[in-house]
Amino acid sequence: MTASATRATPATEATHAGTTATIDHWIGGERFTGDSERSGPIYNPATGATTGRVRFASGSDVDRAVAVAKEASIAWGRSALGKRATILFKFRELVNEHADEIARCIVREHGKVLADARGEVQRGLEVVEFACGIPHLIKGEFSENVSSAVDSYSIRQPLGVVAGITPFNFPIMVPMWMYPVAIAAGNAFVLKPSEKDPSASMMAAELWREAGLPAGVFNVVHGDRIAVERLLEHPDIAAVSFVGSTPIARQIYETATRNGKRVQALGGAKNHMLVLPDADMALAADSAVNAGFGSAGQRCMAISVVVTVGDAGDKLVEMVRERLRAIHVGDGLDAKNDMGPLVTEQHLSRVRQYVDEGLASGATLVADGRDIAANGSRDGFFLGPCLFDHVRPEMSIYRDEIFGPVLSVVRAESYDEALRLINDNPFANGVAIFTTDGAAARRFQSEVQVGMVGINVPIPVPMAYYSFGGWKASLFGDAHVHGGEGVKFYTRGKVVTARWVEKKTGKSLAFPA
Ligand code: NAD
Repeated sequence: MTASATRATPATEATHAGTTATIDHWIGGERFTGDSERSGPIYNPATGATTGRVRFASGSDVDRAVAVAKEASIAWGRSALGKRATILFKFRELVNEHADEIARCIVREHGKVLADARGEVQRGLEVVEFACGIPHLIKGEFSENVSSAVDSYSIRQPLGVVAGITPFNFPIMVPMWMYPVAIAAGNAFVLKPSEKDPSASMMAAELWREAGLPAGVFNVVHGDRIAVERLLEHPDIAAVSFVGSTPIARQIYETATRNGKRVQALGGAKNHMLVLPDADMALAADSAVNAGFGSAGQRCMAISVVVTVGDAGDKLVEMVRERLRAIHVGDGLDAKNDMGPLVTEQHLSRVRQYVDEGLASGATLVADGRDIAANGSRDGFFLGPCLFDHVRPEMSIYRDEIFGPVLSVVRAESYDEALRLINDNPFANGVAIFTTDGAAARRFQSEVQVGMVGINVPIPVPMAYYSFGGWKASLFGDAHVHGGEGVKFYTRGKVVTARWVEKKTGKSLAFPA
């Protein structure tokens, strides 16, 4: 078990330079190699090349991270709110300063286009900005004279050590849904990021150190199921935030709650966009394309199903098909391109399999991206935009989360039929309605059983001062992330009832100090 003692090369520098690198863990404010011989590959999905390897933590590596975090959490949990806010402000400045570097690192490991990666950094920063307000956010309540000379007040205190387990598709933003709030609230954090694109978390670790965060308050352990399972059973982890696919979210929720932990486990999605016949069709078509194919469909808030009512279908499908012709696919670092590759070759073949199944089950493939020639790359994991029409609910392309550039159009006769379809779906992350009828929109926002609703907005991701989260199979647990629910999740309440009988002080004419 060794830890590098020097600041030396940033953990991600070699990957930036295009050579292979090994990504270490980050424990106690420095790189940590650990005792495991296991590691996994990191690819550049745009070229198909292996650019590095990431260490996979053993159980004892995780134990080391938790022990260091536990020790650090004691002083950090007692630190002044002003000190915490100052460090958060500094971290915010540093992330802002390095935003482009972080975004480029994301493009190289995830594949999304640079503008999209910059947007992700920005949305993560919003949570840091929210957490800078911790002195206000963590305020309790006070009731004077609940009895004679007795006052009662509530305070919120940190939990201790909390863990975050995050997916590949937003390697900086999703962890930032968690750690700025958890740390601001006085906890120490152990992050287990996706093994597919781990470098952004290491950049964040270095920026936390530069911002003055005490060593051990923010730690990163890389790895797979072995690291996750140890976190879930570790007695010193008080709470677990998870974001990923539904089967793993369910498993994390069940295991961690069985072990007595507080858990929020956000799962997968199948987001519908309902288009009524009176909608602004140009806006609806642009929105379907942007929300369906942005990040090659690898967003938990991507639109993957468009439900058209009545004659909206024919118009919309034609307008979407037209727009798909103008999408440039290729390396995300080239500003000409609108859409990058899928994250791995394995994921690419899974998505292609769904396209084959859609065809076999009788859906109409209006746009076929399978034979796309990506700009400037032969070996990347590319799939062009695929649009299916006349999709039916029993087809696998409708039922399953595909997580790729495949958009399905389902035709419905009426609003009621469309609403039933959406509410019958087990996933319930995001949904959108496109209409010019305010009454229809108002009815929809009330009747739809989904956690985040857009009205003429295709990707209704709440701002950081609201909370983000779905319903049903898209979230296991009670608390959504960030916003007020995030602060509550990372703290626990205490209520004090106090009696102070007036002291007989005798004569004193001095100014009271
Ligand atoms: P994933 O579930 O495969 O992995 C998520 C995390 O869990 C990773 O850190 C991974 O290493 C770990 N993991 C994977 N298998 C595990 C196992 N068997 N035991 C323990 N840990 C395991 O998800 P992904 O492919 O990285 O990300 C895509 C998924 O995340 C999609 O389903 C997407 O909808 C979902 N997602 C949801 C939201 C949301 O807000 N609801 C946001 C982003 C992504």
